[in-house]
Amino acid sequence: MKRRRFTLVRRPKGVPVAADFALTEAEVPALGEGEFLVANRFASLDPAIRGWLDDAPSYMPPVPLGEAVRASTVGEVVESRNPAFPTGQWVVGLNAIETHSVARSDGFTSAIDVRLASSPTHFLSVLGAVGMTAWFGVERVLKPEPGQTLLVSAAAGAVGSLVGQLGRLRGLKTIGIAGGEAKCRRLVERYGYAAAIDHRGKDAAAMAEAIRAAAPEGVDLVFENVGGSALDGALMNLNDGARIALCGLISEYNAEAPVGARNLWQLIVKKATIRGFLVSEWLPEWPQGIAAMAELLREGRLVADEHIECGLDRAFAAFMRLFEGTNEGKMILEIA
Ligand code: NDP
Repeated sequence: MKRRRFTLVRRPKGVPVAADFALTEAEVPALGEGEFLVANRFASLDPAIRGWLDDAPSYMPPVPLGEAVRASTVGEVVESRNPAFPTGQWVVGLNAIETHSVARSDGFTSAIDVRLASSPTHFLSVLGAVGMTAWFGVERVLKPEPGQTLLVSAAAGAVGSLVGQLGRLRGLKTIGIAGGEAKCRRLVERYGYAAAIDHRGKDAAAMAEAIRAAAPEGVDLVFENVGGSALDGALMNLNDGARIALCGLISEYNAEAPVGARNLWQLIVKKATIRGFLVSEWLPEWPQGIAAMAELLREGRLVADEHIECGLDRAFAAFMRLFEGTNEGKMILEIA
């Protein structure tokens, strides 16, 4: 049997271009003992993938040249040499953007009950890594107290839209940063942010001023997804003892040299804490986090938007939406 794959053929320099990738076809390898074959239905397109394309030290090895691009997928087991993952079982796991992945039970693949969600895609969004990033980032890193002010960047995105809603449910004043008027309206009307800031065309000083106008009382908590002028602006508005959850720095992922934060001295002045985190830190506790998010969904207290594009030939364009800011919700590729 053949499989089709979205393959890395050249390491991107700066902003990825279509020629860095190719759609390839290859024979599905024979399964070894303990392995099983997953027919992937959906792949999660995440900003983190950009980091895995570089030959640089990280928390995961780089995607090898000539291999399919690593991604979380949801799919069905269609052949198995592992009794824990029988044929017909739906699974979520770290696989690749390809029609079929050979998987093993390595801790990154879990069986899922697709009847628990209105769509299997939820296991890549609100009931998957994205939802857990928001949940554990808020609960374990920010540890909010009612009445505090929370600033979120990339606030209309997959993680940010959930963080804003969780913050509001925890009794926080939430301020979101997003690109463009339409997204800013969405922040307030759909995700319940108290105020929205359009980052387009604003340098660090202009961001600092806009944050000050939205939060004259100062910012107690920051959920940072972007870096650059968003982070520099936030640093200039911290209250004493503020906490910053450093989740991502998407504005730097395509930069050829790191940009860095320029107002770090404010951490000293405000006795503030910045804590970087990876959602995998809490992997053993994900079932509790998933149950909490599932309940909020069931109760209608949380909206989880997904932006789904169809077909492996759309993989590159759909991935690039994350950096163009044209995704409306969790970016997912349907593998037809
Ligand atoms: P999103 O759905 O938020 O999509 C990315 C958004 O980032 C875009 O829509 C755009 O929003 C914004 N953006 C892109 N480029 C820039 C730029 N140059 N300057 C400012 N904003 C930009 O993606 P996710 O929710 O999946 O990821 C959000 C962040 O969370 C990323 O940094 C990611 O790496 C991080 N993350 C970290 C995890 C962890 O374990 N630490 C786990 C999962 C995600 P807009 O149009 O509003 O500018």
